Amino acid sequence: MADKRDYYEVLGITKQASADEIKSAYRKAAIKWHPDKWVDGTEQEKKTAEDKFKEASEAYSVLSDPDKRAKYDQFGFAGVDGAGGGFDFSQGFGNLNDILNNLFGGAFGGFGGFSGFGGFGGSGGSAQRTYRGRDIRTRVKLTLEEMARGAEKEVSIERNRPCPECGGKGTKNASDIKTCPTCKGSGQVQHVSNTLFGRTMTYTTCPQCNGEGKVVSNPCRHCGGTGLVRKRETVKVTIPAGVEDGMQLSIRSEGHSAPHNGTNGDLLVIVEAIEHQYLKRDGNNLYYTALISAMDAMLGTTISVPTLEGSESLKVDAGTQSGTIVRLRGKGMPSLNGYGKGDQYVKILVWMPRKLSRQEREKLEEMRSSNSFKPDLSREDKAWFEKEKNIF
Ligand SMILES: [Zn+2]
Ligand SMILES: [Zn+2]
Repeated sequence: MADKRDYYEVLGITKQASADEIKSAYRKAAIKWHPDKWVDGTEQEKKTAEDKFKEASEAYSVLSDPDKRAKYDQFGFAGVDGAGGGFDFSQGFGNLNDILNNLFGGAFGGFGGFSGFGGFGGSGGSAQRTYRGRDIRTRVKLTLEEMARGAEKEVSIERNRPCPECGGKGTKNASDIKTCPTCKGSGQVQHVSNTLFGRTMTYTTCPQCNGEGKVVSNPCRHCGGTGLVRKRETVKVTIPAGVEDGMQLSIRSEGHSAPHNGTNGDLLVIVEAIEHQYLKRDGNNLYYTALISAMDAMLGTTISVPTLEGSESLKVDAGTQSGTIVRLRGKGMPSLNGYGKGDQYVKILVWMPRKLSRQEREKLEEMRSSNSFKPDLSREDKAWFEKEKNIF
């Protein structure tokens, strides 16, 4: 599944779909693509059906769970990663019917035999034309601290809003809005042409109403009959703790308004990380490199380490090797799902003096051949050396 399709698209529903609509859409897909139904198909058909079935099942497992659905709405696949499925297909489709019967409460006569499915219908009814405003994309820059704690940000966007003069209707009098005479409200016109192969029918957007199905005879002068005006507005965005660079938050209904008081589009906010002065981030872990003197490494010292909560003292033991990594447990970033925290790693590098005074040199020369200064890997330094060695 390299290129995953949007879960709503998979089930053919809108982002506003109710729990019942989601269930009903999945039921339809399950009936259509159930592998039992395709046992007599070609290999290609079987494969397609199986893929479609899995895809729909995965979409359903996320969208049917209010918690997962909210995360998916906000962060896309990143928000529900690993949650994928909830269905174990590795054992084949053996107990699949049991799962489906469980899911649909057995009230539907069971998925065992497909003969019983004739009576489903129910959720029919022609789709009512609804208008949806476009989504708006914007960016918000966040410091590492803001991403760690969560933040309230204000973004300024320019968006279509219902015209205050006509209340979004496009005209002052409701009686001036009429069903389009050309398409009779459907928004589409039919073209019939006779070809060698017989009569063919094609549909195009109605030229008179631009597909809206309605015409306004006395358009509002303020908005020109569109029912919309452009406005610059400020929107408060709540950033949850744990977000990462490049993530997209979707704020429902804060995008463009739609004509004829339809549903608003969404505001999509892309997170942009401002680089931290000292700390580097990888997932939920943070990294910092400290530089200490050779004397401090030999004699031991205490250094100050920047963390998300300000600076912290770190004891460096006597005899610390350059490249030693110390873990500050739980000092990393919180996970987005609210469970647990990453760690902060501190790498200690030892700096060697390049120039020595005559006096310093003489003192060190006295110690040069002393036993303590000879590398000895018989103890805990062995692991450190093996690790450093393997970097090549
Ligand atoms: Zn029309
Ligand atoms: Zn108006």
